[in-house]
Amino acid sequence: MIKFLDLKGITDLYSDEIHHAVSSVVDSGWYLQGSANKQFETEYANYIGTKYAIGCANGLDALIWIYRAYIELGVMQPGNEVIVPANTYIASILAITENGLKPMLVEPRKDTLEIDDSLIEAAITPRTKSILIVHLYGRCAYTDKIGAVCKKYGLKLVEDNAQAHGCRFEGRRTGSLGDASGHSFYPGKNLGALGDGGAVTTNDEKLAETVRTLANYGSQKKYVFKYCGRNSRLDELQAAVLSVKLRHLDDDNAKRQRVAEKYYQNVDNEYITLPTRLSDENNVYHIFPVLSPKRDALQKYLVDNGIQTLIHYPIPPHKQECYKDWNGLSFPITEEIHNQELSIPISQVMTDDEVDFVIKTLNSFKP
Ligand SMILES: *Cc1c(COP(=O)(O)O)cnc(C)c1O
Repeated sequence: MIKFLDLKGITDLYSDEIHHAVSSVVDSGWYLQGSANKQFETEYANYIGTKYAIGCANGLDALIWIYRAYIELGVMQPGNEVIVPANTYIASILAITENGLKPMLVEPRKDTLEIDDSLIEAAITPRTKSILIVHLYGRCAYTDKIGAVCKKYGLKLVEDNAQAHGCRFEGRRTGSLGDASGHSFYPGKNLGALGDGGAVTTNDEKLAETVRTLANYGSQKKYVFKYCGRNSRLDELQAAVLSVKLRHLDDDNAKRQRVAEKYYQNVDNEYITLPTRLSDENNVYHIFPVLSPKRDALQKYLVDNGIQTLIHYPIPPHKQECYKDWNGLSFPITEEIHNQELSIPISQVMTDDEVDFVIKTLNSFKP
């Protein structure tokens, strides 16, 4: 069986270094807000190319804290609108609604699967304060046009970089392209911890300080509370593991890019469409999505041949029960993508034989 993602294999790649890092924390007797966090935050900010990185509990919280901090700083208020792609993981949307802000869903392009920048301006109203772009599947969603629209209307550009650690746009890393960015270190992400973790990156000192305070109970000084925050810290064990894995991130991404290269060169089946190919600078292939009008039959054919796949994502946010009020809305491109998308295996530990077998199987599919 070719697994969708071999997490054990990924951890085993750097097993000695990870065990060493974990032991150091265990033996240090210091498990929260210590030197491992400090070190990782410095390394990650340097890597992304921002002044600040603030560790927090997970990627959802990272995004929640960015918008909460903008509200605390008076930059936004509940009821303001945030433009966001209609096809994204639910966390992007939850971060907006959790803060009493209103998501304005915008369709993606079917060929790139990223937000359609030609539709953004029409979605702007006097209440719009921000655009949240999502580098979905590891593909860079930023465009010069998005940057220009943010400038023209004075909107905060926030990046959801949960799926795109290491991706770049004209030399700059995603996560440094806008005003602030949320990152997830969920184990399956390109930079994954051995549990939950997240971070906010930004060049804005006030925002950084507010995020750090909110994620630590709203406290800057022990037992003194400035905000009603929450406990949302990155623990020392995860920070130490992340420092190890960050050192290997570019190599790991390069291996994913080699797998993708083979898929682009060799997958050839009239029932399967690959998204527009981006340069390696613009894609770190967190997920390799293909589209097929016969998606469910294709998924069954692959699993019958020993290949695990996943669907990212079977139900778009506006059709979820948790957002009942939007269930009647229509986003045809988003819905088509959700009906046709299938994620095939890709990772830094896939062997050439496995990749060749996936290609051969995809090419022999006939519905
Ligand atoms: C994983 C993910 C998140 C949330 O990260 P968690 O660490 O799981 O909370 C947010 N946005 C996107 C696009 C993601 O894929």
